[in-house]
Amino acid sequence: MSEQRTTRLAPSPTGALHMGNARTFLANWALARRGGWRIVLRIEDLDTPRTKPGADAAAVEDLGWLGLDWDAGPTRQMADLSPYRDALDRLRSAGLIYPCRCTRRDIEQAASAPHADAHELRYPGTCRPAPDDLSHAADAGRRDAPIAWRLIVPDGEIAFNDGFHGPQRVNVQREVGDFVVATKASLPAYQLAVVVDDARQGVTDVVRGDDLLGSTGRQLLLYHLLGLGPPPRYTHLPLVVGEDGRRLAKRHGDTRLATYRDAGVSADRVVGLLAFWSGVVPAREPMSADEFRDRFDLTRLPPAPAVFTAADHAWLTDR
Ligand code: GLU
Repeated sequence: MSEQRTTRLAPSPTGALHMGNARTFLANWALARRGGWRIVLRIEDLDTPRTKPGADAAAVEDLGWLGLDWDAGPTRQMADLSPYRDALDRLRSAGLIYPCRCTRRDIEQAASAPHADAHELRYPGTCRPAPDDLSHAADAGRRDAPIAWRLIVPDGEIAFNDGFHGPQRVNVQREVGDFVVATKASLPAYQLAVVVDDARQGVTDVVRGDDLLGSTGRQLLLYHLLGLGPPPRYTHLPLVVGEDGRRLAKRHGDTRLATYRDAGVSADRVVGLLAFWSGVVPAREPMSADEFRDRFDLTRLPPAPAVFTAADHAWLTDR
């Protein structure tokens, strides 16, 4: 019997879907539908301080409006935290995680110069217990200060073959050090939750923005340490940037799908622009999601980030 390939659409309800997320979701969906993969819609709502009320329903609506569909879900991570807690318990019993009370400021102060300005700081291991010290397990019971839990990350390279970027090698310890698997808010951290969910939802193919390429080593390591079977194949797609070359964000104006929709722009126009950025057509033309699915070719996707220009915006809104 051949394996049932499965992917997921995993929006975070921290804001509305914009033209950047939309391209990744559309490409993911097209690859899945063409390949006969199952699609799970998973709302990644664990990032609680940043999640926005109503953004989950809005994401579902936006994806449907674009013409995408799915076979299961939407599932919500907050609906049941027990699978993540079980995974944390397993890591804890295996002595693979330890509590940490460091603040971001502590880490910045301890960080060596090259990493000091980086968005992602390497954790220097301040709270890591000595190899023969078992007191950290008992320390878990102390609730006097918020604690995060960090994974004891081995020093070594992890290799994988990205479906778009090709062969990759990463040393997680050197890049980010012992990373957080449970946050000070007592919630599973993204890296852990995504692995637990990909495994339990049977995900064989992850397609996402290449801002997450650097997270893949951490996720592969967790797959291995949790004994979760073969990890998915990962394909990381270039992001959409503004004319200043920076990742599409609020500073570039309002590029939310809902705003275009409310202004009367058709989904076919939005998909047509995404198709133009994706090497599907040489000039902008309205296109349905189904047509995009039939014509999208990953090997013709430009490797450079797509640039959302003023001309693109003008074409979208020119009716
Ligand atoms: N929820 C994440 C995001 O919206 C995607 C996580 C993933 O695909 O692994 O950026």
